Amino acid sequence: MQERKNVWVAEFMPPLAGQREALEEVATVTVGHGKKYIEEELIANIAEVDGVLVTAKAPITAEVIRAAKRLKVIGKYGVGFESVDLEAATARRIPVTYTPGVNQDTVAEYTIALLFATVRRVPFSMGVLRSGGNWRNENFIGLEVLGSTIGIIGLGRIGSRVAQKMRSFDVRIISYDPYVSAERAAELGAERVELPDLLARSDVITLNLPLTHETFHLIGEKELRQMKPASYLINTGRGQLVDESALIRALQEGWIAGAGLDVFEQEPLDVKSPLVSMENVVLTPHIGGSSTTARTRLVRTAVENVVRVLRGERPDLQNVANPQVYGKG
Ligand code: NAD
Repeated sequence: MQERKNVWVAEFMPPLAGQREALEEVATVTVGHGKKYIEEELIANIAEVDGVLVTAKAPITAEVIRAAKRLKVIGKYGVGFESVDLEAATARRIPVTYTPGVNQDTVAEYTIALLFATVRRVPFSMGVLRSGGNWRNENFIGLEVLGSTIGIIGLGRIGSRVAQKMRSFDVRIISYDPYVSAERAAELGAERVELPDLLARSDVITLNLPLTHETFHLIGEKELRQMKPASYLINTGRGQLVDESALIRALQEGWIAGAGLDVFEQEPLDVKSPLVSMENVVLTPHIGGSSTTARTRLVRTAVENVVRVLRGERPDLQNVANPQVYGKG
């Protein structure tokens, strides 16, 4: 008889319903503590495991993969997979599954919500109201978005939805994405420009690209100084796309007008960060994909990916970050 397989889950993401049961149909399930993991504890937990299902809090490094002698699948909840050493997994022919395409509309809607909350100073104004402050505060005055220029960096699933949805606000849309053609950009109502041009022309810039070696600190001091002093930066992509200490200086010294941030270099963000007390900043705890619809789709897809591999089936290749392991891509 075939030996029963083992799955290690770093944490179940809500909504919880049905996840454990679906995995238990194919394997014995062990669940971790769900806090940030260090490499040594992952190595200690992984020797007898056939599949893992993780969030970014459990980095699956080359060392972890080396220690996981039986590993057949690395399942990742969510769209980013930079916490997994893709090269090491591919070398062992282990598929890395993830869940692209489940939340682009939710994240695009949230990017736009954060944009408006930032440029119209919604949380700041609510704070003044709550503390019984002056209803005629000068600092309530924000930006009318109509006629402004919105710069989208990264015109993939989320960025293209942001472009399509923002068109109804009668704005000019410019975009920087070296991997998207000018024709595709035009189809989405966006003009394709180079990065310096986008930085200099935009009233609001939104980051909708992945974190890669190429995009780490894409927005640093030099880029922030190229932005207009009255412009805003919105980031629902990844914290490390931006040099956060340069951004803090930019906001303190008025190189830009404000920022709306859902993601940070270190998550959770240290509450002692100067960002927390700034009036021209809107901060949220990485909630861009947090709608009921998107989250339900995400957990279902993440679990199904792992179950399929452990059953000996091929997962939907769109959900495999290294389709080469199946001779594709
Ligand atoms: P996607 O892969 O569909 O699109 C990313 C786009 O970025 C692509 O068009 C790609 O060509 C472009 N890109 C890559 N390198 C670039 C560069 N150097 N300069 C400019 N553009 C570049 O991904 P997506 O589904 O649109 O998601 C984008 C990112 O959003 C994800 O990688 C993830 O980090 C983030 N995200 C955040 C949340 C959240 O909760 N805040 C939720 C989902 C996704």
